[in-house]
Amino acid sequence: MANSNSHLLLLWRRMNRYIKNLKLDTHIRKGKKMESNDYNDPAIMGGCSVPVRVNRKSKPDVTIVNVGGIKVGSSEIVIIAGPCAVENHEQLIETAKIVKKAGAVLLRGGAFKPRSSPYNFQGLGEEGIKMLREAGRETGLPIVTEVMDTRMVKFVAEYADMLQIGSRNMQNYPLLKEVGMLRKPVLLKRGMMATIEEYLLAAEYILNQGNEQVVLCERGIRTFETTTRNTLDLSAVPMLKHLTHLPVIVDPSHGTGHRWMVPPMAKAAVAAGADGLIMEVHYKPEEALCDGYQSLSPDEFTKLMADLKKVGHAIGRDILA
Ligand code: PEP
Ligand code: MN
Repeated sequence: MANSNSHLLLLWRRMNRYIKNLKLDTHIRKGKKMESNDYNDPAIMGGCSVPVRVNRKSKPDVTIVNVGGIKVGSSEIVIIAGPCAVENHEQLIETAKIVKKAGAVLLRGGAFKPRSSPYNFQGLGEEGIKMLREAGRETGLPIVTEVMDTRMVKFVAEYADMLQIGSRNMQNYPLLKEVGMLRKPVLLKRGMMATIEEYLLAAEYILNQGNEQVVLCERGIRTFETTTRNTLDLSAVPMLKHLTHLPVIVDPSHGTGHRWMVPPMAKAAVAAGADGLIMEVHYKPEEALCDGYQSLSPDEFTKLMADLKKVGHAIGRDILA
């Protein structure tokens, strides 16, 4: 009996050594370290280590990003809306007036468009940026627009109130450094293939250059699912807010790729704690040159704004008016 017990003990020790050598014991360590609450410990968040400048631990107060007087990251939820792309003066100004009337506080619109196909409409470029500023001035809405190229950063920054770094450029490190050198708010969208850790490291590039005015945006990630354009990872909202001090907003337009799915996911995003939403709205979605199928019509957007107010109230937050 004693002999078989010591045999078992030997076997048990050998097995443990084997498990350790294969590094199969990490789940056991992770479970324990969960309680230490150390954000720098990669074992805590499924292997995510949080770089120092974006780390909530290094700055316990949440960051408020000021976009032309509109504060993103306060208790009030910020709505950004506008067309996917600036197409012409009428389309932009009409859409801008509609979103302003319905309650948006920032105007979006792409002039430099990152299109998957080189044969698709690429945006109006510098002309589009100038139209945006005009529409911004006419409606009183500060403007958010994408910059794709380091050579255009200074030009776009002269006109825009907030620079958007798109999903496809989240890991364009020279571009991140370039906008990091400015003192202009940056909307950094999550790369469609990026883990939370890679996303936070990208944000760290911007903060490292001295620009702390960064807003994060969950816009959907690529998964095996094909019914939606992307899989909108709403769990990223509480996770990012838990790990960082930066404001977090959600893009349910690119996140789903379906107009009819934008309202439910926008409401879910607010319920999940998002500090704002960025949504595509077009005065005539069926005529849009870009992403019309996921753009809300004026009526749909107006109705959604009323519903968002109710969701906001349910969780004790107002929609910034
Ligand atoms: C956009 O907001 O216009 C856009 C192209 O989004 P994303 O970079 O998230 O695809
Ligand atoms: Mn779009």
